[in-house]
Amino acid sequence: MRIDIVTLFPGMLEAPLAGSIMGRARVRGLVDIRVHDLRAHAAGRHRVTDEPPFGGGGGMILKPEPLAAAVEALKPEGADARVILLGPAGRRFSQDVARELARRSHLILLCGRYEGVDERVSGTVAHEELSIGDYVLTGGEPAALVVTDAVTRLLPGVLGDGEAPARDSFARGLLEHPQYTRPEVFRGVSVPAVLRSGDHARIARWRQLMSLWRTWERRPDLLETADLTPEEQKWTDGFRQGRTPADFLD
Ligand code: SAM
Repeated sequence: MRIDIVTLFPGMLEAPLAGSIMGRARVRGLVDIRVHDLRAHAAGRHRVTDEPPFGGGGGMILKPEPLAAAVEALKPEGADARVILLGPAGRRFSQDVARELARRSHLILLCGRYEGVDERVSGTVAHEELSIGDYVLTGGEPAALVVTDAVTRLLPGVLGDGEAPARDSFARGLLEHPQYTRPEVFRGVSVPAVLRSGDHARIARWRQLMSLWRTWERRPDLLETADLTPEEQKWTDGFRQGRTPADFLD
């Protein structure tokens, strides 16, 4: 997969893209991530990328032509590229959207700045606008990193088997079960005995139950669309009647 990120501040992206799993995936050739300076695509001696808004008001707006030129410059290599403008008014990014994007061969991510981006970029240059949440960032760079990270870790071979995305939160529409490591007792709180039992069937059942309980407690909205097994449905009905995981464990 190829991911191109167009930004006015390429330096902001270097370190996060070089470290840990994303950095290793790049070195191993599992993902080709390139960062492009928007200013290089602006015309004229002063390479102007932003102007005040028509109609007045404060701040500056990114002009459409440099963004269009940056995408055009990438097009010969990416006729099939999905062009995405990062912006708070966009479709909400989620694990489902990350899975959808991970199936594509090429993404071009456009980072806005200042008061935003000329409206005509949506629809003429970008295929869609994506938001990473209901808050306003100073620029699209952190959003581009969020999308790049979430998509990259889904690509084949990027994660080791022990980190398989199939076990993560949202993989089945539920939150992940709680995780513990050493020490066995921390500040008076013990690791649940079942996790130290060595009984893999009981551990798997406990994890499945706790994943459901955690989702019930923290994100009940997810249960409206989650695809539950008959047993999970029975547990959920029990939670609704005031029962807890302890009522279902032997
Ligand atoms: N004036 C704009 C508004 O109220 O919608 C906000 C512009 S914001 C300060 C500057 C840039 O940051 C945006 O063009 C966008 O690229 C990026 N950005 C801000 N919040 C974002 C979010 N929640 N998701 C994705 N990108 C965001």
